[in-house]
Amino acid sequence: MSALYLGFVFILPIEYAGLPRGMMGKIILESTITCPKCGYVKTETMPEDACQWFYECVNCHYLLKPLKGDCCVFCSYSTISCPPIQCRENC
Ligand SMILES: [Zn+2]
Repeated sequence: MSALYLGFVFILPIEYAGLPRGMMGKIILESTITCPKCGYVKTETMPEDACQWFYECVNCHYLLKPLKGDCCVFCSYSTISCPPIQCRENC
């Protein structure tokens, strides 16, 4: 039982990384987000196939929302566009 469990835990992240149909390798999931209020910088991992609308600054707890025309907080406040946008540009 415990061996099975360990195998499951070990295999799951690999399976997960393979999920977005060959998108991986071009898509950067690590994004550095900067709080517009206090300037706090933090590196976050973005969801692969979704846009994150809200992000709470861990420093000042300001709730970040996407700017007009942007699909998610990463497009508005971080160095790298969100995975769906990256995919549109690179795929
Ligand atoms: Zn902040």
